[in-house]
Amino acid sequence: MMSHLEEIFACNVFNDEAMQKRLPKDTYHALKKTIDEGRSLNPQIANVVAHAMKEWSIEKGVTHYTHWFQPLTGITAEKHDAFLSVSKGHILQSFSGSELVRGESDASSFPSGGLRSTFEARGYTAWDPTSYAFIKDGVLCIPTAFCSYGGEALDKKTPLLRSMEALSRQAIRVLKLFGRDAVRVIPTVGPEQEYFLIDQELYRQRKDLILTGRTLFGAKPPKGQELDDHYYGAIKPRIQAFMREMNDELWKLGVLAKTEHNEAAPSQHEMAPIYTYANIAADQNQLTMEIMKKVAEHHGFVCLLSEKPFEGVNGSGKHNNWSMFTNTGFNLLDPGDSAYDSAQFLLFLIAVIKAVDDYQDLLRISVASAGNDHRLGSSEAPPAIISMFLGTELTDILTALENETSYEGHAQSEMTIGVHVLPKFPKDNTDRNRTSPFAFTGNKFEFRSPGAPESISDCNVVINTIVAESLQQFADQLEQAEDFQSALHELIVREIKAHKRIIFNGNGYSVEWIQEAARRGLTNYPSTVDALPHMIDARNVSLFERHHIFSAAEIHSRYEINLEAYCKVIKIEADTMRMMAHRQILPAVMRYSGDMARTASEIKRYSAVLNTIPEETLLKQLCDGAAALQKCLENLDTLVSHLDRSASAYEQALYLRRQVIPAMEELRREADQMETIVESRYWPFPTYDELLFGSETHRDMT
Ligand code: ADP
Ligand code: MG
Repeated sequence: MMSHLEEIFACNVFNDEAMQKRLPKDTYHALKKTIDEGRSLNPQIANVVAHAMKEWSIEKGVTHYTHWFQPLTGITAEKHDAFLSVSKGHILQSFSGSELVRGESDASSFPSGGLRSTFEARGYTAWDPTSYAFIKDGVLCIPTAFCSYGGEALDKKTPLLRSMEALSRQAIRVLKLFGRDAVRVIPTVGPEQEYFLIDQELYRQRKDLILTGRTLFGAKPPKGQELDDHYYGAIKPRIQAFMREMNDELWKLGVLAKTEHNEAAPSQHEMAPIYTYANIAADQNQLTMEIMKKVAEHHGFVCLLSEKPFEGVNGSGKHNNWSMFTNTGFNLLDPGDSAYDSAQFLLFLIAVIKAVDDYQDLLRISVASAGNDHRLGSSEAPPAIISMFLGTELTDILTALENETSYEGHAQSEMTIGVHVLPKFPKDNTDRNRTSPFAFTGNKFEFRSPGAPESISDCNVVINTIVAESLQQFADQLEQAEDFQSALHELIVREIKAHKRIIFNGNGYSVEWIQEAARRGLTNYPSTVDALPHMIDARNVSLFERHHIFSAAEIHSRYEINLEAYCKVIKIEADTMRMMAHRQILPAVMRYSGDMARTASEIKRYSAVLNTIPEETLLKQLCDGAAALQKCLENLDTLVSHLDRSASAYEQALYLRRQVIPAMEELRREADQMETIVESRYWPFPTYDELLFGSETHRDMT
């Protein structure tokens, strides 16, 4: 008997097993070779594959196919076409190799950041055969890259694939020096996805949630996450039912959904899949977010993926676990057991350390967004300063190597890298520093800064590219060396000295760290507006050009798109706040104070001897509060109306950051203050305690 999991797993994926079963042997092998070696597909083979794919999906009731791609909006795009053609008056179900391999798409409504003015508006999609086709909602989805006719990348996948190539190229050079015969190195990624589930009924009553995905108002509830009674707590039946269906749907799509648990904040949860190749992980993470949202609706929930849906409780991130594997299945970040493995491990480890130190700004930029600004550095997510956690053992080893001293009683000679042994150190995964943005966790690095809704392509493009750069520099030097062992030793010691400032095992949330990081010369970009301009610094543009990840035009276009996205988000949030304050909050306060005034005068009429009555005290508070609220609102209205829409995207972003955001914060403070004294019946939308704890009540869904 097959288990439930075995029965459904990847049943909607045209994966290796399906291909092997349905393709003629020679076609299968040719395709496999194309995939393994990253070559382009011969059209004959494409026709055979397309036919098999069509037959397979028709058997599953599919009528349409789509090229599924990831434009720079950050979400996925699809345009369905039926397998339909007409021949001599008869209708046929057809799907050709050329339709599989390449599609045309009108790119004009997707962000292109100016690329469109210089190049044609139309774009095309190209099949990524390394990511399997799948069936979603009865449509055959073919994972594709999206480019302009000039060949410029218009999506998130193309640079990711390019960066994987760049990393492989350089890593292979280094592995050759160690006598390894791997032909490819592939980055692997396991993204842990955090999310909130809140009640659909309550969600519908909040315009901020509907329009911006996060709450723009809301007083702190009497209880938040301070008792830590949600983290890893027992999962409530209604949540469990959601998770069960989500897992089923993900498994059908071949996503290795593995771990699920409650997170730190009330109503917050996490799902972690088993890691896979970076491009597949990126595709699957997009699918995961989509499935989470869809399945939530079946259970009367809304799934919030915003980086910070609620002020004062933890936000949601995406921990990007990253490593590199050879095509022979060897993890290059696994310390291994033998001496020779250790030297190689050390070199790759130091390549990552150097990469993170040299390009802190790019890592910070890769996770910069209006939403993530509320999370990074807010005493819960990692700080905005990029640093690395290695743990004490590994740090001690690096220190010993640097100083040519002994590590825990090991003789000095043993600390020479090469044939001698890298001291065995305990691979301790338990004592994790949760405050570090970039932590070594035994055999992989965990980048914790990405926000929950972001595509993981962005940060992995950067990680792959900057590590490729380190490895290239190492290979350039070591290939020239007369004596490999001593050159290796010298290089490692030199690089530890040069980059140890990026290693920090302490508390990343502390004020002292901000000062210490400044002393060490680490970059600190608290906000997106501070970070983004460095995207187009000459050294960063040159890095991406050298490794063929982005052309200068592409990187400039992405810079513009990111700035524009930032401005749009802040403008929508400011307008939503104004709408809610004008039309909901202020009227509610006034209605309540009006009723209070009537009550007060009635009581006074009834009993004229009373001097001060509590109603009058409250009335005064309400009127003062309403006046303050109105003043803040007028201020925000004025500032928003003064936004110069003809200014550059950067100038607009700066204005929004410096002028509009502080005014939004002030308005919120006044409104939240009112919320705490206005009778709940008058308050126009559900409050934090209802939103955060509402979904925990078990409802009979029948
Ligand atoms: P946590 O960080 O929550 O303690 P784990 O460390 O077990 O959880 O794993 C988190 C994620 O890291 C999982 O998605 C897992 O598959 C992934 N992971 C484990 N090893 C690697 C690796 N070598 N490369 C990339 N991701 C990995
Ligand atoms: Mg983790």
